[in-house]
Amino acid sequence: MTTIEIAPADALIVIDVQNDFCAGGALAVPDGDAVVPLVNRVARHFNVVVLTQDWHTPGHASFASTHGGQPFQTIELAYGSQVLWPDHCVMGTSGAALHPDLDVPGAQMIIRKGFHPAVDSYSAFVEADHATRTGLAGYLAERAVKRIFIGGLATDFCVGWTALDGRAAGFEVAVIEDACRGIDLDGSLERAWRDMTAAGVRRCSSQDLVFPISPPG
Ligand SMILES: [Zn+2]
Repeated sequence: MTTIEIAPADALIVIDVQNDFCAGGALAVPDGDAVVPLVNRVARHFNVVVLTQDWHTPGHASFASTHGGQPFQTIELAYGSQVLWPDHCVMGTSGAALHPDLDVPGAQMIIRKGFHPAVDSYSAFVEADHATRTGLAGYLAERAVKRIFIGGLATDFCVGWTALDGRAAGFEVAVIEDACRGIDLDGSLERAWRDMTAAGVRRCSSQDLVFPISPPG
């Protein structure tokens, strides 16, 4: 086992641990709730912790209902192909709220993404038009972050795209595999890991992490 010592310039990015992606939610990721205790455990050891929320307008372009289509089919939008999803994470609804058991009081920043009606955003860095930035890279740079660790939902969509864009933004990136769960739509999970590995994303387990920073209290 290769251990990874967590340093002060490391950040944890917790992706979309929201009710709609967990059991009983509109777009529940299989076993999604299982990431919550892992995220809670590791988050208290990071100096910089960012949470993200998928945060859509009603009638969002990523919703099948908006196009009269079926969930999980793929269509072409102005910026490229888009998987259609059940309505989920509509801004201000309980489905868009963070999971009630998520206990990360030390988180300092919440990035909301996907709030432009015509553009989806799996990535916490850049929207699906590959142009519009969320501001996360600037925030991390101003906090002097060099390396990011990612957990949350779902491995093959929002986690994976965030990891790739994190690399593109110049960060070292590690995905904490056991702190993530995937959707696996037509082989998307295997494809995501292949793309992440090719981009230099490190695949690790929460068991690999060593924490020199004492948790407060
Ligand atoms: Zn979404």
